[in-house]
Amino acid sequence: MIIVLKPEASPSDAKEILARISDAGLKPLHMPGSERVVLGALGDERVLAELQLESHPMVESVKPILAPYKLVSREMHPHDTIVRIGGMAIGGSAFKVIAGPCAVETHDQLRNTGLAVKAAGASAIRAGAYKPRTSPYGFPGHGPAGLKILREIGDELGLPVVTEVMDTADLDLVAEHADALQVGARNMQNFSLLRAVGKAGKPVVLKRGMAAKIEELLLAAEYLLAAGNDQVVLCERGIRTFETATRNTLDLNAIPYIKQRTHLPVLVDPSHGTGIRDLVIPMSLAAAACGADGLLVEVHENPAVALSDGAQSLYPDQFNTLMEALGPVVRAVGREFG
Ligand code: PEP
Ligand code: MN
Repeated sequence: MIIVLKPEASPSDAKEILARISDAGLKPLHMPGSERVVLGALGDERVLAELQLESHPMVESVKPILAPYKLVSREMHPHDTIVRIGGMAIGGSAFKVIAGPCAVETHDQLRNTGLAVKAAGASAIRAGAYKPRTSPYGFPGHGPAGLKILREIGDELGLPVVTEVMDTADLDLVAEHADALQVGARNMQNFSLLRAVGKAGKPVVLKRGMAAKIEELLLAAEYLLAAGNDQVVLCERGIRTFETATRNTLDLNAIPYIKQRTHLPVLVDPSHGTGIRDLVIPMSLAAAACGADGLLVEVHENPAVALSDGAQSLYPDQFNTLMEALGPVVRAVGREFG
């Protein structure tokens, strides 16, 4: 429920109403604006109704939040949230590109790839030290050694680092090394991980599960916000459909749908979304055109020898081509690039 106070309401009126909300066992929210103070109450709708806040003399209006996701909804927070990852900001008017290999393989591999993506204009580097693999025999990542390489290269190149955390047991170590924590598709509904990541004090890149509805993605994000972290970037990375020509079906419907309903920034991952290198550039341009706030894209210094996801990883010269092609599309939809 959103409670808009009258312009003449004083801070003590707000305090009194917030106390009534929490005394009723509901979660109170205080959202002071430049013209009006807006309060929120989260919890059982029947208890909310019993409070009868609309009859308070300093309350102008009381409006239910219809979406099941409350903190994530635009009804609660009409303006875009800007998420700061290291020195870069996602959301708002600029379009940002986070690029790097699927996995940290060696110091040289990450450094060479990092140099290439930085020179082409990427704003942050991505790479996994912990990799969710379908087969137990796949390359699982180098774990702590990979995190150390990531931090070294991020610091050397001045690029913020985004990397996946798969397990609460690794959370402290990953958070120590990363500028943003990625929660992968396979963990989107790992609720204990979401709760812990929400409390870790780092921005989060939350990827859509491959069989998750948009509403489920937004409710997963709600876990992070409910745990006290509003620095959340959503990422559309393709879903399973009956189509098998591509690894996944990149659901670009999701981008304008999510942007209309939430204040959180949304990235598109055209690499996992297609699984095919030659589809990455066209789908990246489509992502920019439909209002995404940026890309999460796989690039490898030599995809032919990549230990994971080589077939969908761009060569550095293709990444250059992508960055050059993106500028005009990004500007055509009224945004800035980089
Ligand atoms: C990744 O980003 O390398 C990854 C494993 O992605 P997803 O969780 O979307 O499959
Ligand atoms: Mn990958």
